[in-house]
Amino acid sequence: MFSSYFTKAASCRTCSLQWRRGDVGFELGAAAMAAIITLGPLLLVLLALVIVTWPEIEVVPLFVVLGIGAVLLPFVAYPRAYLMWQAIDIVMRPVEPTDFVLDAEPERSGDEDVRPRDA
Ligand SMILES: [Zn+2]
Repeated sequence: MFSSYFTKAASCRTCSLQWRRGDVGFELGAAAMAAIITLGPLLLVLLALVIVTWPEIEVVPLFVVLGIGAVLLPFVAYPRAYLMWQAIDIVMRPVEPTDFVLDAEPERSGDEDVRPRDA
């Protein structure tokens, strides 16, 4: 669903599922996933380094390691956060036929009788 690492395609190139499916807050969920993906490992590293170096915690190396992680992890997390949120969104709101670009409005074949029936 990405045309490049930082560029979302309008829809999935395989199945044509759209990113946004009638909601207005999709990016908020993706941002929350990015925060979880970024902050989770940082907190685990912080906890591990504090436990390993206790009671003489080296604050400067700790900030250097966590600072590098805080700068790099959002780049790693960016496309993964969108895909993870899309997966959660699909579980919470199952996909409808109208969520696909190509199948948004199936055309009538013309041989169905749409005239009102006489009473
Ligand atoms: Zn797809």
